[in-house]
Amino acid sequence: MNQVYQEGKVFAKSYIEPFTERTDAESRFPEESFKALAEHGFLKLLVPEAYGGSGKGLEAHAEACLAFAETCATTALCYMMHNVAVMCLVTHGSEELKKRVFADIVENGKFMALAYSEFGTGTHFYITETTAEVNGEYTTFNGKKSMVTSASYASYYLVLAPSAEEGKINNWVFPLASEGLSFGLSEWNGLGMRGNSSCPVNIDHVTLDSTHRIGAEGSGQEQVFNVVAPFFITGLGAIYSGTAMHIFEIASGHASGRKYPDGRTLSNIETIQIHIGSIYKQASAAKALTMEAARAGANGEADALAKILSARIFASEAAIECGRLAMRVGGGKAYNKALPLERLLRDAYAGQIMAPSADVLTVWLGKALTGQMIP
Ligand SMILES: Cc1cc2nc3c(=O)[nH]c(=O)nc-3n(C[C@H](O)[C@H](O)[C@H](O)COP(=O)(O)OP(=O)(O)OC[C@H]3O[C@@H](n4cnc5c(N)ncnc54)[C@H](O)[C@@H]3O)c2cc1C
Repeated sequence: MNQVYQEGKVFAKSYIEPFTERTDAESRFPEESFKALAEHGFLKLLVPEAYGGSGKGLEAHAEACLAFAETCATTALCYMMHNVAVMCLVTHGSEELKKRVFADIVENGKFMALAYSEFGTGTHFYITETTAEVNGEYTTFNGKKSMVTSASYASYYLVLAPSAEEGKINNWVFPLASEGLSFGLSEWNGLGMRGNSSCPVNIDHVTLDSTHRIGAEGSGQEQVFNVVAPFFITGLGAIYSGTAMHIFEIASGHASGRKYPDGRTLSNIETIQIHIGSIYKQASAAKALTMEAARAGANGEADALAKILSARIFASEAAIECGRLAMRVGGGKAYNKALPLERLLRDAYAGQIMAPSADVLTVWLGKALTGQMIP
């Protein structure tokens, strides 16, 4: 594994792990970890060097998300969303917008989020029912986004809304302080990922000038498929590979530490060995496939899309299966929450339904492999 992964592991031990349990138990956003992410340069990982960032790409993104998720899936998920939003600006943002937002990230430790999904179109988040009324230089938006990770904590929100060009969409940057932007914080009560504040965002006559639009009029769709998709889908592969690997570490540690009165441990039992082997096999395969997908994506290889989709589908299903088996290994102690396995299983359950969901991506993978159009 490369440098960013190693640095991410060291960072996570000191600045993520101490807050992980509380993040879940109190449904509390990991603010301390985010402050440290800023101080240690992780928030500017993908910001180009010309703007004071580290100028890294898809592989470093995957490595950082993986390293963090091996400690805390919630923190890793919030971080992943930030990187995806940054990459949209890197590739399509105007000079003015990049200068403004990147300075806030690099100098002030601010971070970004994705306010895409809506109640109506659900997992098909690239189809938006938000309205955008253009008045000269200004556009007024109305709508409601359903689940926005880091809601109210992030300083900038990417919002998809219809373009003036028929059938097209735009990708906008909404600053946190925008008049008319509000958060339904009490509406977040997730099964897992409990600290990530994935609540609805209300957009009530938010008015912005055109400098807040990312890229040319009507280029939102292109951004979603060329930038958001690879960084988001690979990022999710990394999050759920990391969660699966975390499950392996907890389950195997428990198996070797739990002693019976005759001095034997769980690890001495063949059935447990088989479960541990199965968990490891799936977690390490998810991790390897995700890193290979990131490598292929970074190099623009012909089969990159298929690898990225496969990694994300495989990792989210593997994390759930690893969690299910680990709960057996953990026995009553896991069930009674003396081990964090039930938390990791709850976190893992987000993977299959996060947009585009594992089911939708499975259809896309089949289409990609048979040369069909992906929506
Ligand atoms: C922890 C968490 C964090 C999130 N963070 C964000 C965020 O930061 N930003 C954001 O924009 N969104 C976010 N979301 C929202 C998420 O990405 C989805 O948009 C949302 O979960 C979809 O919910 P829904 O109930 O409307 O799904 P629905 O669209 O109702 O789908 C329900 C089920 O039907 C299946 N389904 C629907 N259509 C098809 C199809 N054509 N083929 C096969 N199966 C199909 C789906 O796979 C899914 O399992 C988050 C979700 C979670 C769980």
